[in-house]
Amino acid sequence: MPAEECSAAIVLRTRDYSESDRIVTLLTLEAGKLGGIAKGAKQSRRRFERKLEVFSHVMVYFRRRPHGELVFITKAEAGDLPPFDLTDDIGKIALGSYMVELADALSREEAESAQAYRILAASLGAVARHGAGRALRQAFELNLLRWAGYQLEFRRCQVCGRSPENATSFVFIPSHGGIVCQHCRAGASDTFIGLTASSVAALAHLGSVPLEEAVSAPSAGRDAEAALARFMATILDRRLRSVEFLHRFL
Ligand SMILES: [Zn+2]
Repeated sequence: MPAEECSAAIVLRTRDYSESDRIVTLLTLEAGKLGGIAKGAKQSRRRFERKLEVFSHVMVYFRRRPHGELVFITKAEAGDLPPFDLTDDIGKIALGSYMVELADALSREEAESAQAYRILAASLGAVARHGAGRALRQAFELNLLRWAGYQLEFRRCQVCGRSPENATSFVFIPSHGGIVCQHCRAGASDTFIGLTASSVAALAHLGSVPLEEAVSAPSAGRDAEAALARFMATILDRRLRSVEFLHRFL
């Protein structure tokens, strides 16, 4: 029998499999993204001390199966992991749902994802403590995109290197992964989104500070939200279902 492994994990998705079993998708610190089946998850309070539901923060114990895609989850405990308590506020649930869905969409099974776990854990913790906020959402997006290999640039023009202090207006061009000054944009045929100077400054700041600091930082405007959404649409293979729900509260 394969050895039992263990990791801190956050539940991204669940579905009931039978009367008592549950299939869960986890973002783990040690083992990347994992799909697993938890036999008896809905009944055994002994083995599943902390329930396996979306946002659950657990020490998960599992065994890999020789030919199966799903691992066998044998136990889930609280350990000393802080819970993400989002259920007291619908805005928190909306932003948390968006965060787990985006983390799921940007991560792959079998790929290293310790840093994605850390970003998601810090972000859900900040949502639980401080509530849903636009700056926190934007900082999460920028951090997670950077982890996934998309370092978006808001500090200088991607063509000439001019910084925002030396230009009056910028556009965001998804195919450039950052801002381009008005001068360099002339003649470019790529899709672009205009950004105000304050949004450029806010995104540059939010992309470079720890998530806890983002909570109290100025957020970028709707122009920036449109720019980030457009960029993500170019790299994701799916539409995020939680976006519309989120926009009703944020
Ligand atoms: Zn330029």
